[in-house]
Amino acid sequence: MINKIKKIYQASKLCLKYPFLYPRNRFDDKHHVYIEWLQNLQLWLYKKSYFTINISARLSDEEYAPWIKTPNFEVSISPKKLIFVRKNHTYSYDLVRYLYKDCYIKGIKLCNSTRIEIGMGCHNDTNYGFPYSAYELPKNKFYILLHKAVKWANQNIGKVLFLPSYTEADACPEGWKNIFFELCDGIKKELHGNYKSFRITQVKEKYGTLRFYINAGSSEIYQLIHKAEEKSATTCICCGKPAKYISLGWISPYCKDCMDFTWKYKEIKND
Ligand SMILES: [Zn+2]
Repeated sequence: MINKIKKIYQASKLCLKYPFLYPRNRFDDKHHVYIEWLQNLQLWLYKKSYFTINISARLSDEEYAPWIKTPNFEVSISPKKLIFVRKNHTYSYDLVRYLYKDCYIKGIKLCNSTRIEIGMGCHNDTNYGFPYSAYELPKNKFYILLHKAVKWANQNIGKVLFLPSYTEADACPEGWKNIFFELCDGIKKELHGNYKSFRITQVKEKYGTLRFYINAGSSEIYQLIHKAEEKSATTCICCGKPAKYISLGWISPYCKDCMDFTWKYKEIKND
């Protein structure tokens, strides 16, 4: 737990210094922050906050019952008003604000215990289809407020810097961290605070050098990346000291202290 908090603290600090290190999915560029209980809470609060009414405009002369009773609630309507009675509470809604102009309610139909469908007679004859809209009728002001807050959190959780526990820097081998952060400093200078369109798509080791892939950037940035990748080829991947040897098979640069003598190496020659 303490380690986790430490990691979050360090990652957050890094992201504040270098915003482009904030972890994103390299394919869809989205933050992978999905909090199931928060989604469920939003849904639960929604049900507490609103009655949902589906209003559909119909041209047919199909008749609906003017009122319908169920064990759960009672509904009655007048051409522009809906009276909703549930558990001894009476809710009255002025439907004018929910209806299209020149529409009037023809009747209601019960869809299930919590939904009502209202059939409307529509004066507009050019309306061939059956437009169908869900309307939220307020049920509880307190829950509505809570629901709004949770909905906002859900929508923005991935947009704001939200407690990352890792960053792009974690994909960089330890020995190359200095090179990596030097590169980040250089990129930060080149970007002039314009982080919006800049993305790191991947950081990794490949064929013995650092690879730093980005979505797009100025030629200066690509030059900085090229230099850093070159430098990594002669820097010990474990400790960051100058590398004298390259392991064979899985190619990586090592200094004498970090060599594993069960492996085969070849010497790096400086021309
Ligand atoms: Zn070393």
